[in-house]
This record gives sequence, structure tokens and C-alpha cells, in this order.
Amino acid sequence: MAAEFHIHDIVVIGSGLAGLRAALEAKRHGTVAVLAKLYPTRCHSTAAQGGIAAALGNEEPDSPEWHFYDTVKGSDFLGDQDAIEVMCEDAIRTVIELEHMGVPFSRTPEGKIAQRRFGGHTRDFGAAPVRRACYSADRTGHAIVFALYEQCQLAGVEFFSEFHVLDIVVRDGKAAGVIALELATGKLHAFQARAVVVASGGYGRLFKTTSNAITNTGDCLSILFQRGLPLEDMEFFQFHPTGIYGLGILITEGARGEGGVLRNRQGERFMERYAPTIKDLAPRDMVSRAILQEIREGRGIDGRDFVYLDLTHVPEGVIEERLPEIRQFCRVYLGIDPSDSPIPVVPTAHYGMGGIPTDIDGRVLSDERGNVVRGLYAAGECACVSVHGANRLGCNSLLDTVVFGRRAGIAIGRELKYLEPSTIQDEEVKKVESDIERVLSRKGKVRTAHLRRALQECMMQRCSVFRSESSLKEALKEIGDLREMYQEVGIQDKGRVFNTELTEVIELGHLITLAEIVAGSALQRTESRGAHYREDHPERDDRNFLKHTFAFSTDRGILFRFKDVTITRFQPEERRY
Ligand SMILES: Cc1cc2nc3c(=O)[nH]c(=O)nc-3n(C[C@H](O)[C@H](O)[C@H](O)COP(=O)(O)OP(=O)(O)OC[C@H]3O[C@@H](n4cnc5c(N)ncnc54)[C@H](O)[C@@H]3O)c2cc1C
Repeated sequence: MAAEFHIHDIVVIGSGLAGLRAALEAKRHGTVAVLAKLYPTRCHSTAAQGGIAAALGNEEPDSPEWHFYDTVKGSDFLGDQDAIEVMCEDAIRTVIELEHMGVPFSRTPEGKIAQRRFGGHTRDFGAAPVRRACYSADRTGHAIVFALYEQCQLAGVEFFSEFHVLDIVVRDGKAAGVIALELATGKLHAFQARAVVVASGGYGRLFKTTSNAITNTGDCLSILFQRGLPLEDMEFFQFHPTGIYGLGILITEGARGEGGVLRNRQGERFMERYAPTIKDLAPRDMVSRAILQEIREGRGIDGRDFVYLDLTHVPEGVIEERLPEIRQFCRVYLGIDPSDSPIPVVPTAHYGMGGIPTDIDGRVLSDERGNVVRGLYAAGECACVSVHGANRLGCNSLLDTVVFGRRAGIAIGRELKYLEPSTIQDEEVKKVESDIERVLSRKGKVRTAHLRRALQECMMQRCSVFRSESSLKEALKEIGDLREMYQEVGIQDKGRVFNTELTEVIELGHLITLAEIVAGSALQRTESRGAHYREDHPERDDRNFLKHTFAFSTDRGILFRFKDVTITRFQPEERRY
């Protein structure tokens, strides 16, 4: 089947908040195409519940400086402070701009944007929780995505729905475009561009229990890694404390922000012991570990492997008005009403702090020394700026996507005139075509779903909240075995139209690559920091590990190099809450 060639000034991979905001900004400077695996508004950003952080101070005194400090401390001092300062300083303008674009934020009685508490967000440098999360009930992501999508439509951004990116072409240190499979026809398309923005979201599907959408398989991280570009800080993967037991579906931290508390089998509000100052609103890495510690020590509910999130004391009106979706989830999936019954929860894989390294203008770095790939930008969860360091604070991701998506678009505006149009060559498309043919012709007996399950189980058991040298070595061995089995994966649907079996095989290949990088990065970091907890090295080790990990692909396996953390304002200190 002949491929179709397109020419745009800018191609954006991903229609989540980072992609939409980058596209909107870039559209001021040239023609823009946005590609997405699904219909654009079905990105994972739409699932975001709890809110977006900004020190508006609408309900309580607040300041961007406190937000800056909380984010640095939340990151366990691994976040780059220049980038964090940029984000927190820009947060207020960002939220007001979103409001002007039409986001229907929830309101205070006087009509200001309402704000609620969220984990790790405090006033006076850690003194007490503060109301910093701006929200639209518990459908904040949905509200922002639809407003931005509408703005993009008005501005004339072109959308290509259900175009699955299979390759990102980078030649001679410059991005040339992307090659994508049109799901409806099975045809290949080559999008040639002067600038490419990668905004492809997260990879939570690496784990068995996850809050992430089925499509969050990190394809583009794996593609760029295989093209020789580095991935940064991949050992840091966040587990959100409150996923619905057995399902992983998220119950927003906003539920604790509105007064919900965690309880063990004795009914004890156990977070009082782990974080005496801010208790249930401690950062996620700490709360997730605390829950699993309770379970390990036999204090899970009925001695089992979950605890309760208790909202029964929260006024029903508050639940109905501010957490309606959560209430609905509980009714549908558990057959309970959170006003009457506590919710069974366990930590669920949620957010990758690591990703494609960029500078504060979204330009992709080709190494740990700060060199950039011309014409290649990244923003959102797939990128690592790094504002979240070793552990992200709730509500800082939506902020990150919009702030750095916009900055990438602004940088493109500055640089576009120096970026020559690039062509994608026939051979580059043919290579992708022959890869597809090879997958389609496979006759092996191994099923994709079976192998994916095995990978997710392996990552969950050996490389999740608690890790050790032995668990990580076992994980790497098992991932190696799974990679061999991957060659035996067979495919029954040999057609080209809407062949989701084909795309699932390709996604699984990327997940295996990412699993190896996550486990390998975790093995070399012999300390505990943020979401990366090594039982055999429980202390943070600033002398040896106050640095970012850069993983590169080489013929001899993964090579690790390191980059200093940018520290401007706050020196590392012991992290207590
Ligand atoms: C359930 C849930 C609730 C959350 N709640 C909050 C919250 O309240 N506050 C907060 O700050 N953060 C929250 N987060 C985190 C936050 O929502 C995400 O980190 C953020 O929305 C990611 O945005 P993004 O633009 O980077 O990517 P996404 O929104 O994930 O979009 C990725 C896009 O890339 C496309 N894509 C990916 N691969 C390909 C490919 N191969 N080809 C073509 N297209 C591709 C997808 O189709 C999609 O359009 C939540 C996350 C989850 C899972």
C-alpha cells in the first residue's frame, strides 16, 4: 500500500493537555498537525480528576514561593529548581488564562475560583496544608481538555485522529517528522515538518495495577531511546496511594483534600504516625509506602491487602458537589456509596516522573551536557524537565503540561525561521512498512495479552513501591526472557483495517524496552529518594546520588551517565512532614 506524504511546519504527537497547549501556541507561527492514537479528547488528561495547582490565594493566604518550596521538597530535592521556579511563578497566569479560554472552574461563594487541599501543598514552608488546587468538581482534566481542544479548532490546528505514530525521524541532529499508521485504513503516512513536538503522555501500563488508560504505553519514549536519544530519571515511577482495590481506578487525592482519611483494620488514622504535621495529605510516595507497611504488618482490612479511605464523616453535600464522579465510580464498580461506606484502596501505578530530557523551553536534550536536538521538542508527562524530580506533587502535572506545552510553542516561534523543512525519505517509510509486514506474518503461538500480563506482574512484584538489588536483578532476568518470548508472539488478524492486534504487539514491544530501562535505572541507584525506595539502601545519599540518571541505548546494553541537579534557592534537607 503506497504511503501518503504530508507537509506541515509543526507536527505534534499527542492531543493531551501538553500537545493541545503546544499546538495552540505554535499555530501562531505556522501550520500545525496534531496526531493522536484515539479521538483527541480521549487522551488521558481527560481523566484527571482533582485539580491544577496555582497559589491564587483565593481561600487562604498563599504564595508562589511556598509552591516552589513544596515542589522542591516533594521532589526529594531532585527537581531542577530553575524549572520549578518557572512553573510555580507562571501558575497563576496559567490558571487565569485557562479560565478566559472557557474552563468552568468550581467557585467560592463570592464567585472566585475555588481551591482545595492536596498532598504536599503547604503554607509557610511546610507549616500546615494549604488550599492550592483549582478544580472543576472532580472532572478538572475533562474541563481543561475540552476548552483547549475548542481553542485549537478555532485557531485552525489540523487534527489526525487514530493515527498511531510508529517512528520519529531524526536525521543529522535534526527532527524531520513522523511516520504514522492510519488505523481506519492501515495506510502509512509520513508527516514532514520543520519542528516536531512529542507530547505522548505516560506509560503506567507497565504495571499490573494502574490508574492509567489502556493507551498509556510510552511508545514515543521507547522510539526515541532506540534512535539513540537518552531517557532521564526512569527509576522514578509514582504510585498513587488510593486506587480502588482490585481495579486500580483512581480515587483522587481531592477526596482527602475534602477531609477523607485513611484507616487500617483497627480503624486507626495511621497517617498520624507517619506524617504528624500534614497526615493524610503527605506526598504520595510517603502515603503509598505507609499503606503497604500497614498491610505488611497485618493491619490491612481483615488482615487482607487493602486499607480504607473513609469519607463517611464528610458532609454528603460536599461529596455530591465536589466529588460526584468518585461517588459514581464507587456506586458502579463497588456497589457502595462513599457517604455510607469506606472505600477499599491500595496504591496504583500512576505517573512517570522520568522521560525525555528537555530544557526549560521544551527542547529535547541529546545528552547530559545540555546539547539539544534541533527541531525536536517534548512536553507533558513524556518529558522530564525536571520539575517533579523523584516524586511529583498532586496537581502539578496538569500545571506542568500547560506551562511547558506553551513554552515549547513559544520556543518554536522563536526558532522556526532557523529550522529548515525536512523530508522523510522513501527508505525510511519502507523500513516501517517492512516492520509491519514482519509482525503481520508472525505465526508464533504466544498471545500478546499473556505476555503483557506477565510483564505487568513482573514489574508490579519486583519493581514497584519497594525494590531491592535481588528483586531488580530478577526483574531484569525475567524481562530478558519476556523479550525472547516476544519474538514468538503470533497474530491472528492479518488485515490492515483497524488492526488493534497489530498495534498491541507494537505497544508491547515498547513496554518491554521501557521495563528494562526502569529496572536498570533502579538497580544502579543504590539509595532511596522519593518514589524510588530501595529496601537494601533505605537512606537518601546526596553525596553520590544527588544527580539525574541519563540512560542511553548501546550495542552492549544500557549505558548510564549523570547530570547535576540545578539547585538555586533551597538546599537539600531532611524531608519530614
Ligand atoms: C486517572 C488520572 C487522574 C489524574 N488526575 C490528575 C490531577 O487531578 N491533577 C494533575 O495535575 N494530574 C493528574 N493526573 C496526571 C495528569 O493527568 C497527566 O500526567 C497529564 O494529563 C498528561 O498529559 P499529557 O498531555 O502529557 O498526555 P496525555 O493526556 O496522556 O495525552 C497523550 C496523547 O498522546 C497520544 N499518543 C501516545 N502515543 C501515541 C502514538 N504512538 N501515536 C499517536 N499518538 C500517541 C495519545 O493518543 C494522547 O492524545 C492524573 C492522571 C490520571 C491517570
